[in-house]
Amino acid sequence: MKTLYELLNVNTNADNKDIKRAFHQLAKQYHPDLSSENSMFLKILDAYKTLIDDKKRKLYNTAQLCEQAKRSPALPNNRVSFAVSLQDLIDLRCFYRKTNGRKSGHFRPKGYDVCVHLTRSELENGSYVKIDIPAHVICPSCGGDRVHCSLCSHRGHILKAVTVPVPIPRNLEDGDMFYLPVRKLRQKEYAYFMIENLYIKIKILQEHIHGF
Ligand SMILES: [Zn+2]
Repeated sequence: MKTLYELLNVNTNADNKDIKRAFHQLAKQYHPDLSSENSMFLKILDAYKTLIDDKKRKLYNTAQLCEQAKRSPALPNNRVSFAVSLQDLIDLRCFYRKTNGRKSGHFRPKGYDVCVHLTRSELENGSYVKIDIPAHVICPSCGGDRVHCSLCSHRGHILKAVTVPVPIPRNLEDGDMFYLPVRKLRQKEYAYFMIENLYIKIKILQEHIHGF
């Protein structure tokens, strides 16, 4: 399947001017009045509407990256190190609730620091890592009904680690950092992530050193 960029015949870093120009050109070619390929016109129109809208474009790019990531090999779990462990994050949340006296509402730290260790060839070939992110998910016992549920203590949701595939951009260097707006990721199952952004630091491994 073609990407929206391929449909409009533009680069992934095309600006709004390029996108408009490409759309007008293709729209002339495939306009329903002039062409029998009505479905093609609708596809182009849809691609244009998504890419010209900054928010929609970012969402689309993130979704694309995740799709690509699933097709490349995942790095072993021991390549990921966390600045704060999952348990620490949960403890921190309890601490936050105590000090703020809040019984309800969600504690969402702005960021979650992660370090990914990989070799240069793994980086250049395109890799992804699976990262566990704490999230509130619908209680598997009561299905969110809350009634007489001991598993979730009538909350309707439980705290659980949800694994998210994170693609590593190929153009990074040792020590570079990038972030993933986790809250924008759509999951199949309902999940309310405890963090907003995942900050990922890149550490390049020397290929001649074994042990990883
Ligand atoms: Zn429950």
